[in-house]
Amino acid sequence: MLAAPIAGTPAAAAADCPGHPDALGTSRTVVVDPREHPRIGTMQYRETLPLRDHEVVLTFDDGPLPKYSNQVLQILANECIKATFFIVGRQAQANPEGVRKLVAAGHTVGTHSQNHPLTFEKMPVEKAKAEIDGGIASTTAALSDPSALAPFFRIPGLLRAQGVEDLLASRGIQVWSADFPADDWRHVSGERVHQLAMQRLEAKGKGILLLHDIQPRTVAALPKIIHDLKARGYRIVHVVPATADRPATPTEPTEWLLHPQSESVPVARWPKIPNFVFAQGEPLPAPALADLNAELPRQPALPRRSAGEADAAALPVPGRDVFEIPEKSLAVLLTTSSRRGATRTASAETGHRSHAVARGKARTPARSHGRQHAHAAHTAPKGTTGGTAAKPRPTRLASLKKR
Ligand SMILES: [Zn+2]
Repeated sequence: MLAAPIAGTPAAAAADCPGHPDALGTSRTVVVDPREHPRIGTMQYRETLPLRDHEVVLTFDDGPLPKYSNQVLQILANECIKATFFIVGRQAQANPEGVRKLVAAGHTVGTHSQNHPLTFEKMPVEKAKAEIDGGIASTTAALSDPSALAPFFRIPGLLRAQGVEDLLASRGIQVWSADFPADDWRHVSGERVHQLAMQRLEAKGKGILLLHDIQPRTVAALPKIIHDLKARGYRIVHVVPATADRPATPTEPTEWLLHPQSESVPVARWPKIPNFVFAQGEPLPAPALADLNAELPRQPALPRRSAGEADAAALPVPGRDVFEIPEKSLAVLLTTSSRRGATRTASAETGHRSHAVARGKARTPARSHGRQHAHAAHTAPKGTTGGTAAKPRPTRLASLKKR
């Protein structure tokens, strides 16, 4: 069982973190009922966790991968920070001890599919179900106590689809998007991850930070992020699922929305361009734009599939071209960019090229398709979750070239 205290636990004093008098600690634990709030994270949904100003929830995806996950665990342990991990089933099969370590350390463990396919937005629900169930089964198998697994799920690449969300909701599994990423799945430096994490947190004032415990740059950035959290008065919140013995933390409905006063002008503007736009928002230093191209083909399906859904009501209607040319933004990119630039884009998708990919001629198209940020490629690098995750990309590029 998660050895988590219930809501209202006082902030962890230094005394609560033996040997680490300057630890950030975990200020409180929030108990959530997935059935009451089936989808959270303002990157995609109307609601997010009921956090107060300056409260942060750390989340880590795609592990466990011992080399880096163990370092992340140690950094968190040194600060007495409790986080939430979204496990890839194949990783759990390869490193079951890594899953047990998370639970033993008191972290919350959810799942992130069996194979991390970046096709959740378009795969048949039956296939999505198999991926979800496979991830849960593999993670559960790694645990001595199956009830330690939280009914929390993060869709790979955040590639949401109505059918998948409905399926998860019907089973009482909470879909976790996030409030901001730090681009730690991309080829950026650890220092850049640190900067992005803090800039985006400061823009919203609180929220769920999306990180990956399989990346060396995340390991490099995490101590700096924690240092800044302390220096700027942020507090860590641990999230656990409600159970028969552990009722949900009482909250008001409005607490599940971002506070209006925390929405700076740029943030208030971002719904005009749905999804992730803050990642490219004017107040932030622009990320290497070509890196963002990796996700261009995927996001158009997102608003389309969310049409009519309550959460999506807050999002604007995408441009008509998005509907009429489904999954063609890469094609547009290809026609408006040099072949070399397109090739670089494709290379960027695989995540195995140098920074040079960020400077191709795809810059202008990337900007014109700015609504499609960047998240689809937050998968593990090829080889960490197996080749499956990387497969669809070259296939798709090939099919586009035929057109
Ligand atoms: Zn992932």
